Amino acid sequence: MVKGVDPLNEHQLIQEYFSDVGSAYLAEQGIRVPVGDDAAVLSTPKGKESVISVDTSIGGVHFLDSMHASDIAYRSVSVALSDLAACGATPSWFTLALTLKKFDPKWLSNFKQGLQDISTELRIPLIGGDTTKGNLSITVQVGGYIEEGKALTRKAARVGDLIFITGCIGEASTALDSLKKGDLLRDSKNRYLRPKIRFEVSSKLLDIASSVIDISDGLFQDLDQICKASKVGATVFLEKIPTYLSVPLSVEEINKGDDYEIVFTTDQSNRERIERIFKKENTPVSEIGLINKGSEVDIITSEGDFLKASSGYQHF
Ligand code: ADP
Ligand code: MG
Repeated sequence: MVKGVDPLNEHQLIQEYFSDVGSAYLAEQGIRVPVGDDAAVLSTPKGKESVISVDTSIGGVHFLDSMHASDIAYRSVSVALSDLAACGATPSWFTLALTLKKFDPKWLSNFKQGLQDISTELRIPLIGGDTTKGNLSITVQVGGYIEEGKALTRKAARVGDLIFITGCIGEASTALDSLKKGDLLRDSKNRYLRPKIRFEVSSKLLDIASSVIDISDGLFQDLDQICKASKVGATVFLEKIPTYLSVPLSVEEINKGDDYEIVFTTDQSNRERIERIFKKENTPVSEIGLINKGSEVDIITSEGDFLKASSGYQHF
């Protein structure tokens, strides 16, 4: 029932803004009961397992309130989907728990446009949610599927594995700095405003990658999660890390986060397979280092100096 939003408007609001996002994809995604009933009902395809994740985005923390509402929506769904890519899953649906300060039809229709954009791109419907009144907060739950037993994790990197990264580092943090100064124009290709998740390649790593993680908090910090979970160390060659516009970045700048690229490890024998897969999908990929017997991330410069990774984004 109503939790703070005007009772007369709550039903209409849901009906108008959230009842038909991606409804064209309900059948193909096996959704039997969508938005509008007590709960969504869906069937899991035979031989597959469900993969589910949830992320909350808060204004001033995960996005700027000054951003266009369509970008806020797109980004909130995209960053949640990033965890599915890191498991190698194919996305299928999402839900939205939205807390709004006030009823603002213009903001809401822009917000809906952003939901529709990502829904159409990935053919995933919005299948349910909750709408309440309070400080702006956007919680997106995402679900997808993966062949039974094939999900990629953080914990199986082995000594001698190569470390690869998709795309480049630094575009999102550069954009965020410009946004804060108020001089970033809307750009649907910008990786801060609209991070594009690398599903075209992540689902092809199932029998190849030994471990995968998405880069949200910072490359070194997230790679360290692989090290901790796999009980190994990593050697990363600083100059091999691809940076936005090929501008050299400091260790600290590289570790700012928000890149939503993926880092993965794989046996050395897979190097050519990786190159072939990424070339076919036209997705940039770079080999940046090696897994070793240690317990942390070592960064080495071309001069042979060892650098310490500063910490990435800290939530608390
Ligand atoms: P209930 O009181 O049973 O939780 P609600 O009024 O919260 O019902 O929701 C009614 C229907 O609208 C449900 O199907 C719910 O999933 C959907 N819904 C509510 N808010 C949203 C939202 N922000 N996005 C998508 N679906 C929503
Ligand atoms: Mg509810």
